[in-house]
Amino acid sequence: MSLRLYNTLTRTKEELIPLDSKNVRMYVCGPTVWDYAHIGNARPVIVFDVLFRLLRQIYGADHVTYVRNITDVDDKINAKARAEGVPIAEVTERTTKQFHADIAALGVLPPTVEPRATEHIAEMIAIIERLIANGHAYSADGHVLFNVPSMKDYGQLSRRSLDEMLAGARVDVAPYKRGDMDFVLWKPSDDETPGWDSPWGRGRPGWHIECSAMSWKHLGEVFDIHGGGIDLVFPHHENEIAQTRCAFGHSVMANVWMHNGFLQVEGQKMSKSLGNFLTINELLKDWPGDVLRFNMLRTHYRQPIDWTLKSLEESWRILEGFFNNAGAVHAEPGKIGNSVLEALSDDLNTPKAIAELHALDRPGAQNELGETLKALGFAGKLSSPKAETAVDEATVNGLITARLDARKAKNWAESDRLRDELAKMGIAIKDNKDGTTSWEVKR
Ligand SMILES: [Zn+2]
Repeated sequence: MSLRLYNTLTRTKEELIPLDSKNVRMYVCGPTVWDYAHIGNARPVIVFDVLFRLLRQIYGADHVTYVRNITDVDDKINAKARAEGVPIAEVTERTTKQFHADIAALGVLPPTVEPRATEHIAEMIAIIERLIANGHAYSADGHVLFNVPSMKDYGQLSRRSLDEMLAGARVDVAPYKRGDMDFVLWKPSDDETPGWDSPWGRGRPGWHIECSAMSWKHLGEVFDIHGGGIDLVFPHHENEIAQTRCAFGHSVMANVWMHNGFLQVEGQKMSKSLGNFLTINELLKDWPGDVLRFNMLRTHYRQPIDWTLKSLEESWRILEGFFNNAGAVHAEPGKIGNSVLEALSDDLNTPKAIAELHALDRPGAQNELGETLKALGFAGKLSSPKAETAVDEATVNGLITARLDARKAKNWAESDRLRDELAKMGIAIKDNKDGTTSWEVKR
């Protein structure tokens, strides 16, 4: 099975040829843990989870290393901790835990490694020292800056003109900078701000250097795939490339660079001021994680996605149809069926994959449908989280047991009466082939 992926670096779709097919290596920029993650943050998490699952199926689950980092040192985190009057670690621990709970509900597998920036300060310092030694960085005033003009092919990922880069980088004018484009690798910390001892005094890293350090530590100097949102192409990924390539002297940092498109809400940019800022956490109060995941995958990852109530309702309806017919959504472990696998192997064509799921929704193919849904990360559960908390499970289970007893006694009238009683409570039941009955809360 050949896997073709669109490479931002070359602007073409290419066949993935891993450096080592016994260890396919992927890095994806993870969250800065200062506040609830929003649904736009969920997009790369879901998209690259699908790719992770696909790689595991093609190369074997033990032959893929997926690194998704946690950025736990950042000025936004410091500001949040100050505003709340709590230690920084309290903000990062709480937010990381929340992030894990949110994305687990979206059916996302944990990555192979989830490194934290604060645990890789030594690697960052080591890279910065290399860059200074080979003339690609300089220290001034407690800062260390990357010397952009020292890299002849800086800008090859984003392919922007110097003017565009200057505008996009929101360049700060500072006396310690030699060139306008030079960016911070290390900056000084005052007593109120987290800091680490370094050859340049007590300070903290710039954002870009974190990913160069964590990918180096866990994946090596060159690896296969680097992913993230399209907003990271410049300056973040451009600067990661500059640091890693200039520190280690290779022609690439990663062979394939993948970027997911923007997310809008009801046709508008999501923002707190517009009041359309959707956190994953809030959405999960109204929608099953399966519906959010499916809705995300109905748009191809490189296209912009318009997140709407209407599309969420459609997603729920489609999934409900699949789950009602699928034979083995609950079976473990699943494998992605061939037709869906083929669609995904063409640059993660999830709309095509969903068309193939529809094609599997017919008698004779429903076991494959169920197994594929499972393998794609769907739990097969559609009860509304809000409604579920309002239902007394013990009462429901009592009625279901009574109904099973009635059926065993062939008392169909009583069995039907109990089914109706459950329906009035908003409970839909399904009699399974193995004689058990499962239930869910209808909306
Ligand atoms: Zn990054």
